[in-house]
Amino acid sequence: MFTCRNQPCGAQWQPSEVEIRNEGQGTMFRCPLCGSRNYVERVTKDDGSVVYKQPRA
Ligand SMILES: [Zn+2]
Repeated sequence: MFTCRNQPCGAQWQPSEVEIRNEGQGTMFRCPLCGSRNYVERVTKDDGSVVYKQPRA
């Protein structure tokens, strides 16, 4: 679950509900509700699959 960091939006999204992209400043998604950039960390697991984690505020 991702949380939009833009106050007072704070909307929560499943990873499948947002489009994660790299716009050159890091991996991020735009909140579908307010359009704010929210940065996420790309993590490659031992089995080679990629997951995205939202850094703790
Ligand atoms: Zn938002």
